[in-house]
Amino acid sequence: MPKSWTNLAGIGKCSPYAHHYPTSTEEVTNIVKQISAKKEKCRVAGLGKSPNRCTFTNQHLIHMSKMDRILNVDKNKNTVTCQGGTQMKRLMEVIDDLGLMLRCVPSYVETTVAGCIGTATHSSGMKTHGLCDYVESLVVVDSHGEKHVYSVDRDPKLVRLAACHLGVLGIVVEVTLRLEAKEMWRLVSSALSLSEAKRAALHMKYVNKYEYYRLWWVPHTTMCYQSFGFRFNRSQSRTNEALYRRWVSKEKSTWTRLVRALKDNWLRHTAVQCSLWLTCTFPSLQPVVNKLYQMIFYGSPAEQFGSTMEVFTFDCLFKQWANEWAIDAEKAPEVLRRLEKMISDHKLKLHFPVEFRFSPADDSALSPAAGRATCWVGVVMYKPYGREARDTIKCYDLFNAMMKEMGGRPHWAKYYQWGYKDFENAYGQSWADFLELRKKHDPTGTFVNEWFSQLLSETPKNSTKC
Ligand SMILES: Cc1cc2nc3c(=O)[nH]c(=O)nc-3n(C[C@H](O)[C@H](O)[C@H](O)COP(=O)(O)OP(=O)(O)OC[C@H]3O[C@@H](n4cnc5c(N)ncnc54)[C@H](O)[C@@H]3O)c2cc1C
Repeated sequence: MPKSWTNLAGIGKCSPYAHHYPTSTEEVTNIVKQISAKKEKCRVAGLGKSPNRCTFTNQHLIHMSKMDRILNVDKNKNTVTCQGGTQMKRLMEVIDDLGLMLRCVPSYVETTVAGCIGTATHSSGMKTHGLCDYVESLVVVDSHGEKHVYSVDRDPKLVRLAACHLGVLGIVVEVTLRLEAKEMWRLVSSALSLSEAKRAALHMKYVNKYEYYRLWWVPHTTMCYQSFGFRFNRSQSRTNEALYRRWVSKEKSTWTRLVRALKDNWLRHTAVQCSLWLTCTFPSLQPVVNKLYQMIFYGSPAEQFGSTMEVFTFDCLFKQWANEWAIDAEKAPEVLRRLEKMISDHKLKLHFPVEFRFSPADDSALSPAAGRATCWVGVVMYKPYGREARDTIKCYDLFNAMMKEMGGRPHWAKYYQWGYKDFENAYGQSWADFLELRKKHDPTGTFVNEWFSQLLSETPKNSTKC
């Protein structure tokens, strides 16, 4: 009897009858050849962190966790080459030691490089592209077990077409990413009112001022929390050195460490989760929980210094649903206004935060940020101790309709219900070109699972439902 398997958030499940853990490209090739010869199907899991069913299959699941070697760091070209299953976190630690950094750092990095490019994972800030745009080359094993090497030196357009691969071009065994020389970053965070967010902070004139910018709104409150980040050179001036030293000594103080241990471990993880668990039964308490959370965690200014990984990742709390859309960046204030109305019209109770992040137009064909300056709007709903909040699905369906109306494109790894026509409208010729490339790599559909079939369907199912 096959054992069931699921993603990190436990959203849906599948029952693969075989699990494979290849350690080399040769092993990947052999596994794929055997599966193809038997006319069976497979799917690849990076670390299974995507909160929808993109990795699901009831046949062969190929896990990339043992293909996690960093193969080369070229300090002249500023590139790193690694196996597809390399953890983003480890990659960043290794390059940091070598004086290099990755520009695109998402909030959470216990994911794999191939999984992140396959879903067009992004960071925030108008100078930071999605991860796919930093791919210099990739090596994919197709359904015949043949290796394809795509490199920007030879065909940049093809790399941009293949990088956001959706797991359907084959098995991504190697990726080379473009890096930058390492720099220290300073991230400054502070509370601001909802009206200020709508009036000024979500406008491009403001967002463009900072290399990194994100804004969180806590629903059922009138408050937001913004973070802006910039490169920081300690030795540039005495003031900078003093600023940094003051921060270090504050960080080391017993009081700071005590407050952090209490706030982060007990309060954030235990008390908050218990409160959210309670609101599953008593949704009317949600505004109180949100207000308290806002006051305790997003009420006072904060400052951080460190590497891109240290300052741009954060504690994403516990199991959660995710619904995130890429819209024209100029529409960010309007989304916020419409969301407020949606919540009030439908008497919804939401968790937190609603995130607003930004990125420039991506070159990668299937990045939801392709071709236009983008605001990523994400609505987070948790599953406290595995329980579902009353309004998750209702809110997500309404939000999806609103995003579609506003010309949004869904984040590939999250919640949506889109079919062929929707993707064709959203991506135009790129969608057709990608499907053409897919056919060349996988004419018999070895890598096609139910999730992908739905993307090609006229009557799509939800990306999280099996
Ligand atoms: C807490 C949390 C925070 C997040 N924050 C962000 C964020 O800030 N920004 C953002 O954009 N996203 C974010 N995400 C989404 C996340 O970056 C993606 O879901 C990412 O794909 C997960 O990586 P993974 O390695 O677990 O991939 P998986 O979920 O295992 O796989 C993702 C897709 O890639 C395919 N795949 C994986 N590896 C391979 C391979 N080697 N060859 C072929 N196909 C492959 C899979 O079949 C699947 O289709 C977040 C997710 C979580 C859980």
